[in-house]
Amino acid sequence: MKTSSQGIGMTSQRTRDRLVARLREEGIHNNRVLETMASTPRHLFLDEALATRAYEDTSLPIGHGQTISQPYIVARMTELLLEVEPKVVLEVGTGSGYQAAILAGLVDKVYSTERIEPLATQARQRFRQLGLRNIRVQHSDGSWGWPQFGPFDAIMVTAGAADIPEALLEQLKTGGRLVMPLGGRDQQTLITVTRTPTVYEREDFEPVVFVPLLGGEG
Ligand code: SAM
Repeated sequence: MKTSSQGIGMTSQRTRDRLVARLREEGIHNNRVLETMASTPRHLFLDEALATRAYEDTSLPIGHGQTISQPYIVARMTELLLEVEPKVVLEVGTGSGYQAAILAGLVDKVYSTERIEPLATQARQRFRQLGLRNIRVQHSDGSWGWPQFGPFDAIMVTAGAADIPEALLEQLKTGGRLVMPLGGRDQQTLITVTRTPTVYEREDFEPVVFVPLLGGEG
């Protein structure tokens, strides 16, 4: 008899392709993002009990009161980030590691911080198993960024905050872009902040719902 994970292995490419077709219909147009999502096994970033739901376009629990983001939001944030053609990216909120794995397929180097140590450890193991060598994970409060490796071409915050952490703006290169959910606990707006030689330019996009960014600057 097949185990559930073998079953998923056999059908995951087809269900991933179906998910990607749906993301395209919903307006995701960056082919590099769609191709990377078509080849990244989201079910390996979830507990086995939830793996059968991996290719639904929904966020799902990953333990410790946290979630893996909805694939549409992962795609949307990634395509907004790629507009500035980043090579080195900081992610705040590693969570399951799925978003970092998508970024790793699209940029040279991903630095990712996570404040819950078991999630950081589990994500590191997943990256090792998948042979993703261009992601470095740190257990830390990412609202302070990761100054040792900054400034970054782009920063993605995958948790919602009422204010944009000042440290993250400081660790953005000129020409670089920050993408994050900004707003209250129940709902936020997806925003980008692009650093020009003189100012930080903010643009607002669709409403989103994220778990909160906790910590010093959260
Ligand atoms: N990017 C993740 C993924 O692909 O699974 C989803 C992230 S989940 C919506 C938000 C994550 O941000 C949680 O794992 C949470 O612990 C983490 N987080 C919240 N505040 C943080 C902080 N100040 N520094 C680092 N991580 C933080």
